[in-house]
Amino acid sequence: MTSLDPRAPLVLDTRELGRRPGSQREVTLAAQAPADLGIQVLGVAEGAPVEVDLRLEAVMEGVLVTGTARATLTGECARCLEPIADEIDVRFQELFVYEDHAPADEDDEVSTLQDDLIDLEPLLRDAVVLALPFQPLCRDDCPGLCTECGARLADDPDHAHEAAIDPRWASLATLQQDPQQDD
Ligand SMILES: [Zn+2]
Ligand SMILES: [Zn+2]
Repeated sequence: MTSLDPRAPLVLDTRELGRRPGSQREVTLAAQAPADLGIQVLGVAEGAPVEVDLRLEAVMEGVLVTGTARATLTGECARCLEPIADEIDVRFQELFVYEDHAPADEDDEVSTLQDDLIDLEPLLRDAVVLALPFQPLCRDDCPGLCTECGARLADDPDHAHEAAIDPRWASLATLQQDPQQDD
């Protein structure tokens, strides 16, 4: 386990909070986005501002962290590749267990405090990635790109090409236009 850098922007020192269950602290962070905060086509640009509001609460086993984070997303439309800029506002909550309370079983996936420090980065990353659409679109009904020439159809809805049907296929096209028999 690598040790945390207390000066890192998304590392929080909990010593001021103390360990008395019930004690609480509110923290606001203006951090810069770490690399890869998002998915390939959409995310928070590295170094972009991330505003984080947190409530830290000491409980028996550790520190309960509840927070929200706001940032600007940039990316591109999955259909037409147009740049997208959007705001993201995510919520997260995680219990960071004191090292001496952590389960001995290494397989147990729990977040632990390390030398009274909390690493928010994985928490933030999970919250952001979960909140992102699987296929970001510039608008819900983005018509995408023309399959013939790659033009962006939203800019040119009446876009059409000369029907370039090979004469050898013309009879087939006529056949396909024949009314279908319904059963
Ligand atoms: Zn689009
Ligand atoms: Zn076209």
